[in-house]
Amino acid sequence: MSETRRVVTFHYTLKNAAGKLLDTSQGGQPITYLEGGGMIIDGLDQALRTWEPGAKGTVEVPAAQAYGERDPSQVRKVPRHVMPVEGELKVGDQFQTAPDPGAPVVTVVGIEDDGVMLDANHPLAGMDLSFEVELVSTRAATAKELEHGHVHGPGDHCG
Ligand SMILES: [Zn+2]
Repeated sequence: MSETRRVVTFHYTLKNAAGKLLDTSQGGQPITYLEGGGMIIDGLDQALRTWEPGAKGTVEVPAAQAYGERDPSQVRKVPRHVMPVEGELKVGDQFQTAPDPGAPVVTVVGIEDDGVMLDANHPLAGMDLSFEVELVSTRAATAKELEHGHVHGPGDHCG
């Protein structure tokens, strides 16, 4: 095993096991991450370790190595008035539980007379995922990046 860790930039198209398109970076900014930094799901991070720039292919990641299995105890009923939205709610609506971008997302899974059923499982929990990946570029991580555990871009000022 080499100790060299890379900073990897890639485009992806994400589908579920049934082939339904869930997300894609194509047409937008590619994703850049530090290998082993926990920024992308572990199953994908592991699979791409041997890929070189220009490589294309499909990586299948089982739920357990993606966003984990669904936990039924994460579904709870809350009173309608605690929901941070005015107006009509519908099944499938998703909300961040706090303003910061990393905050957990909850999904409305049911609406009853006395409250709203919220599912705090990750929206992709329990799903086997299929990533069509196009690896754009790689470079060796810098000492600072390894120390901090994340990628430094041109606009970063953390040192
Ligand atoms: Zn840093």
